[in-house]
Amino acid sequence: MTEAQQHIDGTDDLEAFRDRVRTWLAAEAPRQGWLREESRSAAAARPQTHDVAGFERYLERARSCQHALFDAGFAGITWPKEYGGQGLSNREQVVFNEESQAYDLPLIPFTIGLGMCGPTVLAVGTDAQKRRHATPMLTGEEIWCQMFSEPGAGSDVAGLQMRAERANDQWRINGQKVWTSGAHYSRFGMLLARTSPDLPKHRGLTMFIVDMQTPGIQIRPLRQMNGASGFNEVFFDDVLIPAENVLGEVDDGWRTSLVTLMNERVAIGAGRQSGETPTAQSLVELAEHRGISHDSALRDAVAEVYIQERVLSLLSHRINGSILQGKAPGPEGSVAKLVATALARRAAALGAELAGPAAQAWSPTDPAGDHWAAVMLMAPGLSIAGGTDEIMRNIIGERVLGLPKEPSATKR
Ligand SMILES: Cc1cc2nc3c(=O)[nH]c(=O)nc-3n(C[C@H](O)[C@H](O)[C@H](O)COP(=O)(O)OP(=O)(O)OC[C@H]3O[C@@H](n4cnc5c(N)ncnc54)[C@H](O)[C@@H]3O)c2cc1C
Repeated sequence: MTEAQQHIDGTDDLEAFRDRVRTWLAAEAPRQGWLREESRSAAAARPQTHDVAGFERYLERARSCQHALFDAGFAGITWPKEYGGQGLSNREQVVFNEESQAYDLPLIPFTIGLGMCGPTVLAVGTDAQKRRHATPMLTGEEIWCQMFSEPGAGSDVAGLQMRAERANDQWRINGQKVWTSGAHYSRFGMLLARTSPDLPKHRGLTMFIVDMQTPGIQIRPLRQMNGASGFNEVFFDDVLIPAENVLGEVDDGWRTSLVTLMNERVAIGAGRQSGETPTAQSLVELAEHRGISHDSALRDAVAEVYIQERVLSLLSHRINGSILQGKAPGPEGSVAKLVATALARRAAALGAELAGPAAQAWSPTDPAGDHWAAVMLMAPGLSIAGGTDEIMRNIIGERVLGLPKEPSATKR
């Protein structure tokens, strides 16, 4: 056990925890800032399958960062100790998020595993599943992906067609998933498949834990407009999965998936934002770097971004406050996700404008152009991933404002 872990086991209060986080970050992690060499090289090494060597270096850096967090006692802050976590409360998690926000931690490959799959396994998994999977997730040894979307089922994910049929003590899986982030570097995945096609569509689904190295799984990367291949098509051809890999109950996968989706929205809206999220501070640095910080229209626009950041921060506090009171995150997760994606799009567009022609030329030798072109091309995807803006507005309309439910072809 490391010194940091021994401290956490004691009766340290929150401020002592904050001090420990600060000390560790100052010693171990580079600060964010696109002008900094280390941040730029991290951004340049963001996952791209066409640069295999660069991608492997990025992944290596990500794994060692996650392992260092584990050794220091900062991985799985709220996860139970018996499954490798720190057994602390959300208060410590909030402190860690606040303090680490200014640092460049390359943790994107773990977002889905630690933010969505892990909490789902802990919420509905068997003791054996938790013992097998929680610690390798926390050390960064095993990365996870989430296989919900299909070519004909995205917003309406309950309409999915992938079939799972019982075959003695196994399940046989056939069908296709799409947009699976990180499938090409994941060891495990959470898979939603149809087990009872005769039941109404929300009731015949089951969640499975899938070893991505199982024979019959084929992963094909999709090329995005920024040149990267962050997500994939995944084909299942008579893939056999052991019966003990059912996560939750058979035919109860919809309920299990709601645990994952709620965690996803909260993670996107109220969680620690990745180093690639543009901030008002990074826009100020950019304006100063280009010598245009006196431009009054640009100053107004940067101030608007700052105001939206404060709004998001207040929303995050509110969500974290509910979680601290033991309440499950509700539709406020959808509000935070909408605000976070609107903010990211606005800040990215402004960054590209401030960077000037370099952002369009996208020269790898020009930090302003290279960084802001990549940020601008990443931003629209945030309005789709984890539920589109329109779906978030539907949730708010129906569950918060009490508006009538949308007409549905499959419901009376
Ligand atoms: C960056 C990124 C990463 C992703 N990673 C993953 C992943 O790891 N795993 C995974 O399973 N999926 C992933 N996805 C897929 C994502 O969940 C889906 O793209 C999303 O749910 C939308 O589904 P769709 O693309 O099929 O669009 P559709 O559902 O076909 O929607 C098309 C359009 O119609 C609108 N629309 C649909 N239904 C309604 C309605 N009822 N009311 C109003 N408007 C509506 C939508 O808002 C959208 O504008 C990822 C997507 C992106 C962009």
